[in-house]
Amino acid sequence: MIASRVKGISTSLIRRMFEIVEKAKKEGKKIINLSIGEPDFDTPLEIIEKAYEYMKKGYTHYTSNFGIEELRVAIAERYGVEKDNVMVTTGGSEALLNASLAFIEEGSDVVIPSPNFLSYFTYAKLCKARVLEILTHPTFELDLDKLNEVMSKNISVIFLNYPNNPTGVVLDEKTIKGVVEIARDYGTIVVSDEIYDQIYYDKKPISLAGEENVVVVNGFSKSLAMTGWRIGFVIAEKDLLDEMLKVHQVNGVCAPAFAQKAVADILSSGEAEKLTRKMVEEFRRRRDFVYSKLKKVFDVVKPEGAFYIFPNVGKDCDEFCEKLLMSKGVCVTPGKAFGSGNENYVRISFAISMENLKVAMERIEEYARENS
Ligand code: PLP
Repeated sequence: MIASRVKGISTSLIRRMFEIVEKAKKEGKKIINLSIGEPDFDTPLEIIEKAYEYMKKGYTHYTSNFGIEELRVAIAERYGVEKDNVMVTTGGSEALLNASLAFIEEGSDVVIPSPNFLSYFTYAKLCKARVLEILTHPTFELDLDKLNEVMSKNISVIFLNYPNNPTGVVLDEKTIKGVVEIARDYGTIVVSDEIYDQIYYDKKPISLAGEENVVVVNGFSKSLAMTGWRIGFVIAEKDLLDEMLKVHQVNGVCAPAFAQKAVADILSSGEAEKLTRKMVEEFRRRRDFVYSKLKKVFDVVKPEGAFYIFPNVGKDCDEFCEKLLMSKGVCVTPGKAFGSGNENYVRISFAISMENLKVAMERIEEYARENS
């Protein structure tokens, strides 16, 4: 029997994108893929070398479910919390699933500002909860009045993600802390996914680490180009972590020991900041370039973090994506993948080389002018 909790989950969009790309490839098109959700840089060699040394030293076994002490300490120092408030997970994704299984009650409501990371909708469905979306267009700023309007005691979790995937928007302190205050009055837990917190261009994003009733999810996939290494973490009050541990110990168990050790060294030596800033400077160059090109043909908000931009293309996004791919060989992600109200938007990732971005932007501009 297929469980009803997975029956409601749609994979049709991803399948459709895949089919279109395959079709274009068969027609001999060289595709420039702007739908990528990970840094195009290799994991820094320093980390690889350290990990190898630790592998040779026998760090190839299980670790404590909470993670290796040195890594918990290094993370706690970065965020100004105690080591006991940190749990290492197998990537941010596992942390999000743990938080969902621990805090989303079946039949409850889950608030997701739209547009947002696709997986939150899936977690809500897996937990048999109802999604209440708060539309944030066209600025993608979260309106606290709209949040107040939907709040009820039936809301188990509010998902936040700033810097945001897909818009790159960063919220100011008043707004983000305002969400926490509102949630507290209803006993609602805020899951603050801060996976892009180190990838910012203007104002430094506010972390909710250390706030009551908040579960911060983060990891090193994006900030250290380590997507395949599966190192994430959670910061929360001890009693909330203990509940999440019940899921983590049967779900993720532990992140790879050698990778935890390597990251602990890189973090505590201060090297991590330098490696990330180097990568961010390249992303900034691309962000400035992509924004300057897109704003000539579309309404678009300048991203302040992450490596995505979310223009309003003024047309149905499915049709736009398909035609752009078939006629110009450029693949972007339809806005519909990120929740309601995004039918005329597309997500463009600038996690590809400047050389390819230049060609892609020329083709997009050309396409937009031909079809305006
Ligand atoms: N949260 C957001 C907003 C993401 O964009 C992603 C990956 O794309 C994740 C979480 C998952 O990251 P991880 O690789 O650490 O599981």
